[in-house]
Amino acid sequence: MPRLAQPIETETDRPELDRYGAATHEVFNQPFELVDFNLFSGDAALKQGVAREGAGWASAELEALGAKLGGADTLELGVLANRNAPELDTHDRYGRRIDLVRFHPAYHALMRGAIEEGLHSSPWTDPRPGAHVARAARYYMQGQVDAGHGCPVTMTFAATPCLRLQPDLAREWLPKIHARVYDPRNVPVAEKQGLTIGMAMTEKQGGSDVRANTTRAIPIGAEGPGEAYELVGHKFFVSAPMCDAFLVLAQAPGGLTCFLAPRWRPDGTKNPIQVVRLKRKMGNVSNASSETEWRGALAWRVGPEGRGVATIIEMVATTRFDCMIGSSAGMRMAAAQAIDHCRQRKAFGALLSDQPAMQNVLADLALEAEASLALTLRMARALDNRANPHEDALIRLGAPIGKYWICKRTPAHAYEAMECIGGSGAMEDSPMPRLYREAPINAIWEGSGNVQCLDVLRAIRRSPETLEAYFAEVASARGSHRALDAHVDALKDDMRDLQDFEHRARDLCDRLALGLMASAMVKGAPGANADAFCRARLESRGQHNWGALPRGLDLAAIVKRAAPR
Ligand SMILES: Cc1cc2nc3c(=O)[nH]c(=O)nc-3n(C[C@H](O)[C@H](O)[C@H](O)COP(=O)(O)OP(=O)(O)OC[C@H]3O[C@@H](n4cnc5c(N)ncnc54)[C@H](O)[C@@H]3O)c2cc1C
Repeated sequence: MPRLAQPIETETDRPELDRYGAATHEVFNQPFELVDFNLFSGDAALKQGVAREGAGWASAELEALGAKLGGADTLELGVLANRNAPELDTHDRYGRRIDLVRFHPAYHALMRGAIEEGLHSSPWTDPRPGAHVARAARYYMQGQVDAGHGCPVTMTFAATPCLRLQPDLAREWLPKIHARVYDPRNVPVAEKQGLTIGMAMTEKQGGSDVRANTTRAIPIGAEGPGEAYELVGHKFFVSAPMCDAFLVLAQAPGGLTCFLAPRWRPDGTKNPIQVVRLKRKMGNVSNASSETEWRGALAWRVGPEGRGVATIIEMVATTRFDCMIGSSAGMRMAAAQAIDHCRQRKAFGALLSDQPAMQNVLADLALEAEASLALTLRMARALDNRANPHEDALIRLGAPIGKYWICKRTPAHAYEAMECIGGSGAMEDSPMPRLYREAPINAIWEGSGNVQCLDVLRAIRRSPETLEAYFAEVASARGSHRALDAHVDALKDDMRDLQDFEHRARDLCDRLALGLMASAMVKGAPGANADAFCRARLESRGQHNWGALPRGLDLAAIVKRAAPR
């Protein structure tokens, strides 16, 4: 009988085995995790963009926040909030209806941090030049830690322009909505100092087409703006169902109308908005999204009857802008992870980041992230200056164009960044799977791709000054890059005839987006980055794959600029 080898355990357990070298191997050529870095000072594009677009005054605060958010402890909150998905209890242990969603403490910590930073309110409470730019920079950094909690933060932020259309409700609700107080308790509004707001439009038979909503609104007494109604029906997607109130669309006697529905009635009884189940989502796990039934739920009318879409669109437009920030943030984190990894990892005798094929990929990922941020911050400046007709017209076209393009670029970007890291990038203890699963969500909600493109058409048809503002904006970069000039000339020709726009919508919106991004890049980014972006995205080659940047560019400099530490 051959003697069976004993399994080798550890050096300390079996000291006599040391002579075989029981310490199996040394770990080398493996990168250190990207933690304890500053999300602001380590991001040259962000720092410069903030100053360029008018929020240089916020730099010191942003730097402090960047250090906090890039700290290992804060990054771990993002991990925990996604590893421990929220859970729904429809009833308490004795069978009473409670509709309570329980979250991991890490989620609450992230929410508290975001609200205390004023991500839900700062441009409304402290309006000043650059307020939207500074808030966008904060949200951009916060979104790199976790995207999910950004959903209720965004909806709360976006509720303000909509509620302001109903001054009596605004007077009553906005002070607590704007407060920098996070109170997750499941209690009536009167008992709280800080509130969060959700949005419920989508129904089973129609999401994009909300005019197909079947939920009914029945006046309780007098009809009219600010008056009480009861809502009967369902909402198929309600994210953050623990919000204190929801802006809702329902069919009133005079057509689709906007309402504000509280989770608790003012008399302290539960408003019958019943959570049927939580969605099982591919990404955005830290955030709860639910299916709900509305069984005579109290709601107050916001705005004119039959004008629900026009009323709630104020909220939707704001959430779309946040999708631009959120997806730009995802791309920044993905590029930072890939670059940081490749600057530490060697293969075939050299650092990956120094190998030409990889350098081309990394530089391309960095350029995409930088250009997305540049466009986003430019649009934030437009939001800061809506009193200026050019800026107002620009944001009306720039938001759907940017939301469409930036969100749509993110999934492919996340996947390519993951591949830069190799096998470890596909493991669940890497941030990459989370970034990857998160990436498609922003593109789908708040108006999916085609819907954004159709909104671009609608904006141009209804308000031709939006297209004029677009071309004035890109014209301000004229002469900076021949590829951009040629791109704009061809686009202008093709936009003259809007006859079969729907058929050409994707192509035209792609080109509108690239023109706007390129103009933001040539006006703000270093020359090498702007040149690389214009040549790679506006000339014929290399638009549709990563790592196909043309020859003659200083790719090492582009990668170095984007390196997070
Ligand atoms: C994680 C998550 C959370 C969500 N949370 C909320 C929430 O809190 N509140 C809420 O109200 N909703 C929420 N939604 C719903 C979301 O807004 C809708 O899914 C979205 O609006 C699309 O609607 P739909 O799913 O009904 O798809 P559809 O409307 O059926 O659209 C399907 C596809 O058809 C395309 N399409 C639609 N119309 C046209 C057209 N005319 N021409 C060409 N193409 C067209 C769309 O672009 C889309 O790609 C959430 C969704 C997700 C994924």
